[in-house]
Amino acid sequence: MYEKNCPFCSITSGNSHQILLYQDNLVTAFKDIHPITPVHILVVPNRHVESLNDIAMEDEALLGHMITVAKGLAKENRIDRSGYRLVINAGPDSGQSVFHLHLHLIGGRHMPFKFQ
Ligand code: AMP
Ligand code: ZN
Repeated sequence: MYEKNCPFCSITSGNSHQILLYQDNLVTAFKDIHPITPVHILVVPNRHVESLNDIAMEDEALLGHMITVAKGLAKENRIDRSGYRLVINAGPDSGQSVFHLHLHLIGGRHMPFKFQ
């Protein structure tokens, strides 16, 4: 499903100039425009899903795939040994600002704080 005015739907459907780091039939990965770490990549489902709250049992394979793709990108970016973090924000208290589900892959520097 494609949502008009959703920045990530534009990216997954190829209607943006964003360089894709990875894409298959389920997910797309690209660089975050405001990186907080040297490596900051977003892995998103191609289908428009607003947040983790909209995930159902039948989406478990999709979520697992997002993590596997993120793991591969961590290795490709040589942060698999130095360490990285995977983050999904859901809802207002988390600071979620784009309402198309996305997994942040962050790393490339020491991240002293577990939560901020
Ligand atoms: P969140 O706070 O978890 O909703 O994260 C949304 C992330 O998307 C932020 O880190 C933004 O910098 C990033 N972002 C927003 N628009 C774009 C875009 N067009 N391309 C890449 N990253 C984006
Ligand atoms: Zn979308």
